[in-house]
Amino acid sequence: MFYQQRLPSLTGVPMLSVQPKGKQKGCAGCNRKIKDRYLLKALDKYWHEDCLKCACCDCRLGEVGSTLYTKANLILCRRDYLRLFGTTGNCAACSKLIPAFEMVMRARDNVYHLDCFACQLCNQRFCVGDKFFLKNNMILCQMDYEEGQLNGSFETQVQ
Ligand SMILES: [Zn+2]
Ligand SMILES: [Zn+2]
Ligand SMILES: [Zn+2]
Ligand SMILES: [Zn+2]
Repeated sequence: MFYQQRLPSLTGVPMLSVQPKGKQKGCAGCNRKIKDRYLLKALDKYWHEDCLKCACCDCRLGEVGSTLYTKANLILCRRDYLRLFGTTGNCAACSKLIPAFEMVMRARDNVYHLDCFACQLCNQRFCVGDKFFLKNNMILCQMDYEEGQLNGSFETQVQ
């Protein structure tokens, strides 16, 4: 079976703008005490609004949205996170890169552009629920697959 999917799921880390209470908190960015009226709380740490910045574009994350994204010890805005880490993989049919968050078709371990997910012999598109076959890493419709079996054209090829 194959299915349509939007990948990867993007889960950001929430940021909260809070008013400091009690003891002054130290900023996880600059290590100085936070004396501002508001501070940001994220990743279980406290930050000056100026100190919680994207490691790539230096934008102040508190102004951009209410979530940040982390990977490999980097703190990033959504845009840079997508740019750096957001690719789904290569399309198994045309081998071009599939940008993140484009709808893709998945079949076993392969991903395909929606437009590329068609029988590679007759170009018939599949609907969800249709039978398809993967042979020698080619997508085939049932007809072409059975025809290939009959003609013996698959026999000599090792999968
Ligand atoms: Zn700071
Ligand atoms: Zn950024
Ligand atoms: Zn493709
Ligand atoms: Zn076909």
